[in-house]
Amino acid sequence: AIPLVVAISTSMAARNQLLIRNRTAFENARKIDTLVFDKTGTLTLGTFAVTRYEGRNGFDAQEVLRLAAAAEQDSEHPIAGGILKTARDANLTLPASRAFENRTGEGIRAEVEGKTVEVVSPGYATKRGFGAAAQVDATEAETLVFVLVDGTLAGYLALSDQVRATSADAIRTLKAMGIKTYMMTGDVENVARHLSQQLQMDGYFAGVLPDQKQEKVKQLQHEGRFVAMTGDGVNDAPALAQANVGIAVGSGTDVAAETADIILVESDPQDVVKLIRFGRATYRKMI
Ligand code: ADP
Ligand code: MG
Repeated sequence: AIPLVVAISTSMAARNQLLIRNRTAFENARKIDTLVFDKTGTLTLGTFAVTRYEGRNGFDAQEVLRLAAAAEQDSEHPIAGGILKTARDANLTLPASRAFENRTGEGIRAEVEGKTVEVVSPGYATKRGFGAAAQVDATEAETLVFVLVDGTLAGYLALSDQVRATSADAIRTLKAMGIKTYMMTGDVENVARHLSQQLQMDGYFAGVLPDQKQEKVKQLQHEGRFVAMTGDGVNDAPALAQANVGIAVGSGTDVAAETADIILVESDPQDVVKLIRFGRATYRKMI
């Protein structure tokens, strides 16, 4: 039988937009000493806006935006949303795209008007040999993506996301509760360092490819930590499964939700604080 206090706390949690998929997770919530947050969509709102864009190698800036937006039409990444909105605001008519492919954590590619258009991370552009050409001055608040057309570097777009209003407070509270906080992101070092310092987190893992996320969680566990991790994407599922408490955030994919122990409907870091408080309070009452 489920003890009454647990049943009550679980329904209280549900009213607070925390969906608990198994009771062990709730029990484990009180043991969490390390929290790994994904950046985009959890610590930030994940509503990217294009701040500037430029053409290279004879490509016009508007043309770069048009091709990038056309190629991103089938992507569900928040970066795609930002690019598409900017293209719509500029009244660009987008041609159809075909053969869309998602290269998880590195970008996308699609065929547009008979050309292969890729929109990719700085890391991937470097891997493809565009290291020097892909040198662009960016502020620490800007996420850069590069646009390749038939293998030529056609330009770049800079995007900025917004820090969630509740993030700093949630991190501060977790720290006061004795919990270490880390950011894990596929985004570049500069962006990760800046934001994690701004939020006064204990550290960050930047440029982490999807298949490395699980490994990072494992490393923390090998240090003897009891790890909770938040994530939304398909690529976060193995890391969520590896974590002692896997937390899927609201707008995320079904795959992440199915793997997770707990789902945060609002994707709000404050709800992680609530979760641990509920867990601690519940099991204190039982002893
Ligand atoms: P995050 O930690 O922000 O969730 P992801 O692993 O989803 O990071 O993505 C890592 C990087 O891969 C992004 O910062 C971006 O450079 C690139 N990327 C991912 N998806 C796309 C996309 N649809 N279009 C362009 N670039 C993308
Ligand atoms: Mg992600």
